[in-house]
Amino acid sequence: MIEWKKYDPTSREIESHINHLVTDGHRVLIAQLASVVGAVKYSWMINNSWINWVTHYAQINLPAKCIFCKKGLVGEEHERDEEGNAICRPCFLSESDIGE
Ligand SMILES: [Zn+2]
Repeated sequence: MIEWKKYDPTSREIESHINHLVTDGHRVLIAQLASVVGAVKYSWMINNSWINWVTHYAQINLPAKCIFCKKGLVGEEHERDEEGNAICRPCFLSESDIGE
């Protein structure tokens, strides 16, 4: 079952630049929340186009694979890089070490 949450435009609890399911009660699409350049707000975006009809959204909890070690990851047990790729915690930490 999909756990729909009412979209509150003032909420800062929604993770930006991560795919979510969004709906207005008629259609269901995948969108990302992104900051509107030049405005102090966030809005939903699909393929670089803003959409303004979202009433509810849901997190997508597909199993993911670590892009480094290919270990299967579920839920919150992993980090994500800037492009949204899943990285397990051990790989994430060792990646951080390389830069130091
Ligand atoms: Zn890994």
